[in-house]
Amino acid sequence: MIQIQLIADLKKCINEAKTTGKSIGFVPTMGYLHEGHMSLANQAREENDFVVMSIFVNPAQFGPNEDLDKYPRDLNRDIKMAKEAGVDLLFFPQVNEMYPQDGGITIRAGAQANVLCGASRPGHFDGVLKVVTKLFHLVEPTRVYFGQKDAQQLAIIETLVRDYNFPLEVRRVPTVREFDGLAKSSRNVFLSEQDRKEAPSIHQAIQLGLEHYKEHQNVDEAKKVTKQHIENSTSGNIDYVELLSYPNLTNDISSNSSVILAVAVFFEKARLIDNMMLNNKGE
Ligand code: AMP
Repeated sequence: MIQIQLIADLKKCINEAKTTGKSIGFVPTMGYLHEGHMSLANQAREENDFVVMSIFVNPAQFGPNEDLDKYPRDLNRDIKMAKEAGVDLLFFPQVNEMYPQDGGITIRAGAQANVLCGASRPGHFDGVLKVVTKLFHLVEPTRVYFGQKDAQQLAIIETLVRDYNFPLEVRRVPTVREFDGLAKSSRNVFLSEQDRKEAPSIHQAIQLGLEHYKEHQNVDEAKKVTKQHIENSTSGNIDYVELLSYPNLTNDISSNSSVILAVAVFFEKARLIDNMMLNNKGE
């Protein structure tokens, strides 16, 4: 596996892959890899000739009081895992390599960022768009891989790619879970023993809420069922429980829209998110 920190070196390898006609699968991450990331890498491996993974804890997507400094990091372990997943090139730039100057042009997410995590983390998705735009230009991928775990991020990136004609395909990868249903996340390491016991209730609550919605088509009641289950079975504080159309992320739900039931819960040292979707066939 090629390991690269500098943009100039990355460009050389990408040019070589391109001139030999290879398709490039790209998996952007913030590292501290787990099986969710591995699932993205595996799919990229299956569908492309050359697989690039990036590891970059992107300061632009963290708010001033968020966990940028505390975000878990373990590069040596990540390198081993990326190798095992068959990644061909790992790109892990320093912050000043990615952002040598401040200011300049800002990319701003649209209405899809006014709800869910965008509402409680102002500017977060602008920061995500900033880094993925740069990375897409640097890596020139044929296909990019994003997890449904971060469904709002995925929807906003699909809009970026569509509206600005990025010549690449966005592939959606299903959420990978622990044996008890908890969505895998780098931030799960911050859960106390008690939080860890309670956290699978988030997934159960979403399942209950969606079952209720399937039966009664009542958005408010479905959200209530979800909230109640979380409140009754965890000590966490709910940030939001929302049921919206997907990928537009509005309250305008028609009979042929897919819907998402999405949740964010604050535990003492971690804010966890999770979601599930129903397509227009109710699946
Ligand atoms: P992160 O390192 O948390 O920024 O995540 C990098 C990519 O991995 C994003 O596309 C995430 O949606 C995806 N991802 C994170 N956790 C999971 C999971 N449990 N299942 C599937 N994809 C995931």
